[in-house]
Amino acid sequence: MSLQALRGRELKPPLRPVRPRPASLREALQVTPLAAQRAIPRFPVNPETRAFYRRFYPGTSTVEWNDWRWQIRSRIRALDDLARIFMLSDDERAAVERHKGALPVGITPYYASLMGLDDPREPLRRTHIMTGGEYVRSPGEADDPLGEDHDTVVPGLVHRYPDRVLFLTTGTCSTYCRYCTRARVVGNPGGEYQFSTRQWEKALSYLEAHTEVRDVLLSGGDPLTIGDDKLDWLLGRLRAIKHIEFLRIGTKIPVVLPQRITKDFVKILRKHHPLWMSIHVTHPAELTDEVTESTARLADAGIPLGSQTVLLKDINDSPAVMVPLMQGLLKRRVRPYYLYQCDPIRGSAHFRTNVEKGLEIIASLRGHTTGYATPMFCVDAPGGGGKIQLAPDPVVGREGDDLLLRNFEGRVYRYPDPGGTLGRK
Ligand code: SF4
Repeated sequence: MSLQALRGRELKPPLRPVRPRPASLREALQVTPLAAQRAIPRFPVNPETRAFYRRFYPGTSTVEWNDWRWQIRSRIRALDDLARIFMLSDDERAAVERHKGALPVGITPYYASLMGLDDPREPLRRTHIMTGGEYVRSPGEADDPLGEDHDTVVPGLVHRYPDRVLFLTTGTCSTYCRYCTRARVVGNPGGEYQFSTRQWEKALSYLEAHTEVRDVLLSGGDPLTIGDDKLDWLLGRLRAIKHIEFLRIGTKIPVVLPQRITKDFVKILRKHHPLWMSIHVTHPAELTDEVTESTARLADAGIPLGSQTVLLKDINDSPAVMVPLMQGLLKRRVRPYYLYQCDPIRGSAHFRTNVEKGLEIIASLRGHTTGYATPMFCVDAPGGGGKIQLAPDPVVGREGDDLLLRNFEGRVYRYPDPGGTLGRK
């Protein structure tokens, strides 16, 4: 099907959802004109980022800078690349030199432009440049703390909850977060596992046979690193399965590689509604003009956007950071959804806070700002127990028929609750 034909179909959306079975992958990949693949739309560049790329990537045109494929090709991956841009501490240098295996360094030039070049304590830099803390094993840590491997039914498909599955579509990310829950599988050197039709086909066959599955979360790695045609094909195959009611994509790309959200790409996504997206955000320093644009394009395409944030020690573990982050997301039509306690992956103790810290942050948001700005705070239970939500307890006690409740300012109020037992010691 030509790109023109696809556009024509979007201009006249069917009244009822139609789920034609897509062409074979081979056909889907052969028809997109090369010129369309190379089309690079205009994109904003914030002033600090522009100064960065002129300094470190002289001779790079704005068109190249805004080409997401150029950003992926130009990722900062080796010690030399890092040292050319960052003033590395001895700790960072030694940790990068020592690293082997999965979860390599990988930073898009765009995302590097948001980081502190001279300060190893700068929050975004801490999340992406490894330090010696990664090599310290602490009690309770594991390579697969959530027990995903145990619930894997075919390669790349995790079926833990009754009606939904996690589909790990790729092992590649545009940037590698040092606290990644899937540190064991993402970014294997020489084998960032590539698009594999055979693996996807096995997962699709499983889903076709399991009629109880109504919700598929595509994750990885980052599904948005997959090319337009391949992702279009995969989403089409999933939407062609009648019992799958909707799809979700978990991604960090709108924040670390916002240029990937091209106008042509959102046209593809729109074809596969109902489609939701969870965007991984960490810090208000990420909320640039570029991210305003990427989230606007997605929201304008009718994709409900939610956020997920990992609580990280000395990075975002304070109301002074979290409040503007959550408010900034709302301004960009992203609903703060999850705040996660950091999973105990191997070598993550330097990132983890006590659980009380998350409760303090929720208390600093609840009642003090828009209700929509308060995410759910969750611990993903080690061993495969699933997400467990935690919230500050407002119940003070009970006096007779009155339930005593504490409000956001710490004042206690009575609610008439005859016959209730809540709050009774
Ligand atoms: S983008 Fe997601 S999957 Fe990739 S390294 Fe970061 S947390 Fe892990």
